[in-house]
Amino acid sequence: KEELNIIQGALELRTKTVEDVLTPFTDCFMLASDVVLDFNAMSEIMQSGYTRIPVFENERSNIVDILFVKDLAFVDPDDCTPLKTITQFYKHPLHCVFNDTKLDAMLEEFKKGKSHLAIVQRVNNEGEGDPFYEVMGIVTLEDVIEEIIKSE
Ligand code: ATP
Ligand code: ATP
Repeated sequence: KEELNIIQGALELRTKTVEDVLTPFTDCFMLASDVVLDFNAMSEIMQSGYTRIPVFENERSNIVDILFVKDLAFVDPDDCTPLKTITQFYKHPLHCVFNDTKLDAMLEEFKKGKSHLAIVQRVNNEGEGDPFYEVMGIVTLEDVIEEIIKSE
């Protein structure tokens, strides 16, 4: 029954983690911080269909900003505005969480407001060198809600 599935899903929020529901960062639509917002770039952003777009510097695993598509409302493609001008104007806070964050805790975070997207990190202590933070992907409110209402 539908109701039972939803209750089941809600109960699982206590045991499942953001790692179980994230979108891997290799699948993320992202922008390089040095992009110029010309007609082509802006069309590509619009066609991606995403509302929130991580911005990386140098390598994709180094996320430094987040662009909201609505930030582009006053941008004229003919001006060829650097993306940096926009991200530095809005300065949306980056919200990072660890891979073992439980979905109930994540839902509480999202409910507090701020952003409905978080960057998921883990500590990589494999290999020889010092442990380092590694970006695994992104998680949004929608990913958590989907976990509740999915029907199996
Ligand atoms: P909204 O529904 O608020 O307009 P959206 O459609 O851009 O936002 P969400 O509804 O938050 O995105 O998420 C839908 C799915 O897309 C989720 O699985 C989420 O992880 C994924 N997602 C969100 N942003 C991106 C992105 N920039 N690149 C790839 N996947 C994304
Ligand atoms: P997003 O978070 O994807 O950028 P948003 O902030 O415009 O979108 P939602 O997060 O979907 O809007 O909704 C937040 C609240 O604002 C909800 O209670 C919703 O009903 C309300 N809301 C959304 N659009 C409008 C609107 N045009 N006028 C009044 N209230 C709105």
